[in-house]
Amino acid sequence: MNLVNQKTRVVGVDISSDFTTYALVDVRGNILAKDEFPTAECPTVASFVNRLCESIVKLVEANGGYETVRSVGVSSPSASFVTGSIEHAANLPWKGIVPLAAMMRDQLGLAVGVANDAHATALGESVYGSAHGMKNYIVIHLGTGLGSCFFSEGREHLGKNGYAGEFGHICMVPEGGRQCGCGHTGCLETYVNNKGIIQTAREMMAASDEPSLMRSLDDLSPRTIVECCEQGDKMAQEVFRYTGKILGWGLANYACIVSPEAIVLTGGIFKAGKWLLEPTQEAFEKHIFHNMQGRVKLLLSTLETSDREVLGASALAWDVEEYSLFK
Ligand SMILES: [Zn+2]
Repeated sequence: MNLVNQKTRVVGVDISSDFTTYALVDVRGNILAKDEFPTAECPTVASFVNRLCESIVKLVEANGGYETVRSVGVSSPSASFVTGSIEHAANLPWKGIVPLAAMMRDQLGLAVGVANDAHATALGESVYGSAHGMKNYIVIHLGTGLGSCFFSEGREHLGKNGYAGEFGHICMVPEGGRQCGCGHTGCLETYVNNKGIIQTAREMMAASDEPSLMRSLDDLSPRTIVECCEQGDKMAQEVFRYTGKILGWGLANYACIVSPEAIVLTGGIFKAGKWLLEPTQEAFEKHIFHNMQGRVKLLLSTLETSDREVLGASALAWDVEEYSLFK
């Protein structure tokens, strides 16, 4: 037994349109070191991979050394664990198919797993968060988009190409629905994501002459609409009631297919608290199949928002098969 060379750490990387964050994480989910750089500073894939790999090496060398690191997990929009690639990401600087796992593995000499952000978030909840110990559950991530991942008997269901769980694009309004970025209309996401909530507020203000604090906001956003709710603004409260109702219907449909023990809700929008959660829960219980009524928990993530993505990516790193050029 060679305890000296035991690899007790992994690197978690979260790529978003704003920042690429990378962290060294131990087996217990403690973030030992973390840093970031603006993603847009790397206009080409090659420059991005170089910068990311050099940054990871620097972080690792300054914190215990390369030989303690087992593998790397990367969370990115539009990524597939099955192919190890980022494919046609709408909000990242590089287009087309980017075989990121292979490119990073060649440069780092370590195993690299790549997954979409919803998948990585779900793994993080499973290993370190609210879904710990569960076998059948759904994790929802709501923010700019609406992603999800579900686990069946302890394993994530990824589908043929790794794109299972595109919950944001189920059709909730078949005729006359809102235009979605995916090209279709009436997708759930267009009613419940950040932009959707703002659009609902605008539509409600346009449809009536009722006074509302929202009318004098310079910056209309889910956060400022919540502030209006807290000051007793009826129309702002109605915005979240409407949002929660549609989200609850969608979740009830999802639960009917998966029959989960729980649905874990993650994402900044859930900071809206009771204004969003109460109508969501109400619509969910009303529309779920009767045999499941009262038996599926809606839970909030217990992980810190700022750490959730890199922790999810680090959980993924433990899931990839070990590989080392130096073995
Ligand atoms: Zn869509």
